[in-house]
Amino acid sequence: LSPSSAASDVYKRQVLVGAGPGDAGLLTLKGLQQMQLADVVVYDRLVSDGVLNLVRRDAERIFVGKRAGHHCVPQERINEILLEQAQMGKRVVRLKGGDPFIFGRGGEELEALKAAGIAFSVVPGITAASGCSAYSGIPLTHRDHAQSVRLITGHAKQDGILDWACMAQSQQTLVFYMGLTQAGEIQRRLLENGLAAETPVALVENGTSQQQRVVTGVLTELGNLAKQVQSPSLIIVGSVVSLREKLNWFASKTQN
Ligand code: SAH
Repeated sequence: LSPSSAASDVYKRQVLVGAGPGDAGLLTLKGLQQMQLADVVVYDRLVSDGVLNLVRRDAERIFVGKRAGHHCVPQERINEILLEQAQMGKRVVRLKGGDPFIFGRGGEELEALKAAGIAFSVVPGITAASGCSAYSGIPLTHRDHAQSVRLITGHAKQDGILDWACMAQSQQTLVFYMGLTQAGEIQRRLLENGLAAETPVALVENGTSQQQRVVTGVLTELGNLAKQVQSPSLIIVGSVVSLREKLNWFASKTQN
């Protein structure tokens, strides 16, 4: 990294950084540089220990995620913390799992900063879909299988806003984030809208980490397969999943 790229960033006091899906090696150089310049790092549950270990030793760390048995820090409170820290003149890194602009509420946090007139910049990260795809040997597109890919939340704010008919098409890959508790419903809706019962599915738990686990099956089994994995897990639906047999290369410590 050239010194000039570091210098030009110095006045951007608040930086939203994507931490990637787990494996610390997937952090960007720019993200790492920002983590080493920060006075304060505000992070949540999905940021791996491997990435946190790269934060400057004397930086303050503020955890705003959910701990077992406790509730999440509400989004409004997180926004306040970010504002308070910036207003104290601190150089803040807001560290988020994956990519901050993909189901990470990064946009909402920046809107709050913008409203308060605080300067910011954004460093992208490898989103769970890319990380899980690579580390499970399941390409998200492939000329023989899928010409498009959809990243979908399994946790839509309101009912009725997802277009299931569009999703239940062949030649595309569906990736559901936050889909575990809704897996049975996802299965039902896709079948109801005509997606083939034998469409391959995969669930990737703790993708890219040494604890990664992958379970595969077909669409009619999705709801049951979801009971075998824990959060964080990603659901991949589409014929690309069949490529895993040939392309799987990553042997995590827990892989069977
Ligand atoms: N901004 C994040 C997504 C946040 S939403 C990103 O770009 O990846 C949280 C959801 O992401 C989880 O419920 C899970 O579905 C998915 N996820 C995040 N990290 C994951 C991982 N290492 N393995 C599998 N799924 C993951």
